[in-house]
Amino acid sequence: MEIRVTGLTKHYQADGRTVKALDGVDLTIPANEIFTLLGPSGCGKTTLLRSIVGLETPDDGEIRIGEDVVWSRRKGIAVPTEKRGLGMVFQTYAIWPHMSVYENVAYPLTVRGTPGAQIAVKVAEVLRFVQLAGLENRPATRLSGGQQQRVALARALVAEPRVILFDEPLSNLDAKLREETRKELRRFLSQLDITAIYVTHDRVEALALSDSIAVMRAGRIVEIGAPREIYFRARHRFVADFIGRANLIDATVLGHADGATRIDCALGSVMCAGSEHAQGSQVTLCLRPEFLQVQGGTVAGPNLVHGTIEAIDFVGEVNEAEIRVGSALLLARTAPDAQLAVGSAVSIALAPEHCLLVAA
Ligand code: ATP
Repeated sequence: MEIRVTGLTKHYQADGRTVKALDGVDLTIPANEIFTLLGPSGCGKTTLLRSIVGLETPDDGEIRIGEDVVWSRRKGIAVPTEKRGLGMVFQTYAIWPHMSVYENVAYPLTVRGTPGAQIAVKVAEVLRFVQLAGLENRPATRLSGGQQQRVALARALVAEPRVILFDEPLSNLDAKLREETRKELRRFLSQLDITAIYVTHDRVEALALSDSIAVMRAGRIVEIGAPREIYFRARHRFVADFIGRANLIDATVLGHADGATRIDCALGSVMCAGSEHAQGSQVTLCLRPEFLQVQGGTVAGPNLVHGTIEAIDFVGEVNEAEIRVGSALLLARTAPDAQLAVGSAVSIALAPEHCLLVAA
């Protein structure tokens, strides 16, 4: 089911001030995708999600779920939450501690007055799907965090919603369980014909889980794309920075040749693939630490810069090296067994295809 949001605005009054939580959001969420709203705290993700659900009343705009307008100020439409055909999974699992696994999952059908025999079939099916069959009678609190989250997912799925919405559902889990549950969730969702909207401020979660990511800032959508698109070909400095570790360097476009762009920046003159930015324009050079090819000593070659290692952190799978190049301090990731010493001179090869230019 496609979701279309147009011109959505929402202001809150707090401490005598007006906060613009949504600033004219236009967004189409394609049917059957896992679509993530990603952004820093306070950028409006939860407000947007809650508006789609119907738990928040926007000031203006329109929300469609499939062909149905579920909210429109202009048309005077406000379909109540329970009639929007949605399932929800929240950060606090919101499973009921006094109920068994079965009762928790059955709840949405019980309140609808679905006949008991039908409920039993549905609950058995969905518990099998989330791999909790056999735990029907267990009190919901006597489960691990990951299992409780699966109960919450089962409860959201049992009523066969058209869309399922997740608000930071993994943030209460420890790092290892979070990763396992994330993979599991991706597997579960990709087996279903369902549109999933997922809210998080965790970029790794967004990259690993999503078909598409919308990066938000200050109540607006800045950029939308597939995870690799957003990571490798961000168009805005804010997005490039938010989606991964990045060296961001102010630069000026000197000119173009053979589909590449020559820039001037604190590293000197650098060739970058692509030619979207006009000569003379101010841009930002984005270098991901994992693509800086660090070599010991001073070697010559195209697109090479020279520097001195100021610090090395060994973090297990990589060395993180801080390298001084003129006025810039670059973060580079190198192989954990690379023999690099603080104070030593190094050369860094910058592959033009990994020199991303974004709007300043
Ligand atoms: P987080 O990741 O911290 O949950 P978020 O991106 O989901 O943040 P929202 O919760 O949507 O952001 O909040 C957007 C803005 O609206 C913030 O500035 C927030 O302080 C403000 N806000 C949200 N709810 C209310 C409220 N009930 N009253 C006043 N201001 C609010």
